[in-house]
Amino acid sequence: MSSVVAPEFVRLYIDGEWTDALSEQTLVTANPCFGTEITRVAEAQAEDVDLAVTAARRAFDDGPWRSWTASKRAATLLRVADLMEAHANELAELESIDAGKPISETLRVDVPMAAATFRYFAGWCTKISGENSPLSSDYLHYTLREPYGVCALIVAWNFPLLLAARKLAPALATGNTVVLKPASLTPLSALRLAQILDDAGVPRGVVNVIPGHGAQAGEALISHPGVDKISLTGSTETGQAVMRMAAQSITRVSLELGGKSPNIVFDDADLDAAARGVVGGIFFNKGEVCTAGSRLFVQSSIHDELVERIVDRAKSLAGHQGDTLDPDIRLGPQVSRSQLETSLRYVGYGLDEGARLVIGGERTHPLGKDVGWFLHPAVFTEVNSDMRIAREEIFGPVLSVIRFDEVEDALRQSNQSLYGLAAGVWTRDLARAHQAARALQAGTVWVNCYNVFDPAAPFGGYKRSGFGRENGQAAIEDYTQLKSVIVRVG
Ligand code: NAD
Repeated sequence: MSSVVAPEFVRLYIDGEWTDALSEQTLVTANPCFGTEITRVAEAQAEDVDLAVTAARRAFDDGPWRSWTASKRAATLLRVADLMEAHANELAELESIDAGKPISETLRVDVPMAAATFRYFAGWCTKISGENSPLSSDYLHYTLREPYGVCALIVAWNFPLLLAARKLAPALATGNTVVLKPASLTPLSALRLAQILDDAGVPRGVVNVIPGHGAQAGEALISHPGVDKISLTGSTETGQAVMRMAAQSITRVSLELGGKSPNIVFDDADLDAAARGVVGGIFFNKGEVCTAGSRLFVQSSIHDELVERIVDRAKSLAGHQGDTLDPDIRLGPQVSRSQLETSLRYVGYGLDEGARLVIGGERTHPLGKDVGWFLHPAVFTEVNSDMRIAREEIFGPVLSVIRFDEVEDALRQSNQSLYGLAAGVWTRDLARAHQAARALQAGTVWVNCYNVFDPAAPFGGYKRSGFGRENGQAAIEDYTQLKSVIVRVG
């Protein structure tokens, strides 16, 4: 077991206790840099899910969390943020070895942003209020914004800590209790976070963390009658399965799903900034980002120059692959052998369909032959919107470059997707930027930047990228239901 993993935080966290799975089953979590086991973690099955939901139910119905004053809940969530920062190195290391992320990134992005998310939602605790509407003079009307109860929170493996924070913080700020199921590939940071929540004073049963596989723990959680609200971050296929299961009981669902986001560079853009933004947009976190700007639309007159700059940057990134705990590493391995193989398969599809592979697309071995799941970032040109590499989410470092001449054509092709998570626009023309922002069918549009997130900015999908919003006031609304109270006063 890696020295950074404390032996107590590899068990299930249920009702304020660390426990083994009733079946005593475990799952292996591996370091993708080496393909080797980090440790084994207790693997929840349906009977453990039942214990976790029961604990959360009891904590909601009988526990103090919901009845605490809003300021006491806020103070607790602020302590969570403080403790995350106090343990930033440990959390960053766990995230780096488990998810294949450079330590420079987990220290700069994942951990601070997760802590900032708790701090932001701590601020909301004291600001959640209802409204009063004028009914006829005989009645007084007001609304109460109330928690749902027990929330099932299920997250993906690409930002394990941050995705967990985005769900936990608003769910807790609004007085819900939760059962969090991290992805089976990356359970470590969420388990460490459970202890931080405990240390911060979150009462027992309010938060339960149960690693497990989607088909077992995930399905048992979604279909548990004690769950009042579901929030999933995962693939569109999983979102569809979750909706089907939730339909049985009409359980509220929020879905943060996949994407195939367009990044459009117009001929008047600052090319240097655009090249940087495009490369960060697709290769950040080795392309394992739901908002990855995987379809690059470039206006013809600047096509060759921009591609050249992108290729230079991709080369430089490939020169900085290696052990993610090394502070000089800038690009990690794919999270698993299966993710590596998916990307390699799509490189094959691109070649078969006649796209031109300008760079990358092959497995690399910075730590020794056949060690780890590294891929050289790939750039395809001569792509058209009908090719699989332009239509399907790859979730790896594979960029498809599509040439365009007319603005309308770029916008039309950008919207020619089942997904609608995010989009980027690069231009110095203010009117064109705002017109594009309106025209693009996406939950987030970045102008002259990409992958900029803030806990205050609502985030979520159009079309098959899901519904519901994380971050911002929208997340508070997502974790609460509205009650109208009408009082006869006349
Ligand atoms: P996934 O759908 O396979 O798994 C996501 C989570 O759902 C995991 O915890 C998994 O165990 C669980 N799960 C899987 N099947 C389930 C089922 N039948 N019932 C209940 N739970 C189930 O996705 P992944 O491979 O972990 O993550 C990659 C996907 O997530 C990509 O499509 C990516 O775009 C998406 N994603 C979206 C966002 C966003 O905010 N929109 C963020 C990150 C990742």
